[in-house]
Amino acid sequence: MKRKSDTFGDFGPRKMPGYFFFRAVDIDFDTAVEADIDKQNYSVGPREWYIDATFECQVCKKEFLWSASEQKTWFEDYYFWIDSTPNHCKNCRREIRELKSARNEYDRSVTKALSGSDIELKKKIVKLIAILEENSNLPNRILENNRVLIKQIGKAENIASDNSDCSATSI
Ligand SMILES: [Zn+2]
Repeated sequence: MKRKSDTFGDFGPRKMPGYFFFRAVDIDFDTAVEADIDKQNYSVGPREWYIDATFECQVCKKEFLWSASEQKTWFEDYYFWIDSTPNHCKNCRREIRELKSARNEYDRSVTKALSGSDIELKKKIVKLIAILEENSNLPNRILENNRVLIKQIGKAENIASDNSDCSATSI
């Protein structure tokens, strides 16, 4: 059942506590749509309204819109914690996700890549390291692994081309 309390904005979007739009550079109150608070994940107070709001991305510093309908999805479909606000624009969010997955894949496979003889896996890890390196300063340990893998790939490919030279001359 719906609770009524002035504190949490029951009497209009402008009465909503500021922390629901923490760091917003603009809030377009005309776009407010009423929330279905029974679907929300909250303890102290629900988010009574979803309102188009503009934020600055913490990474690229561009402004982006966090729309009322996106908020509805976050809080009613994904059941995100009610105090959540976005720190990153959609592009940066996607990049962060991709970097995380590259890093996870690196962590999962690097030992196998270093110790095994699977050249394709070695190449894959070198590619992942290149992606990670574009976006952050990597610890020496990873850079050292990169050097070892590149050396291993070079060696394996030299041997492979030596072999094909041999077979070519023996025909
Ligand atoms: Zn961004």
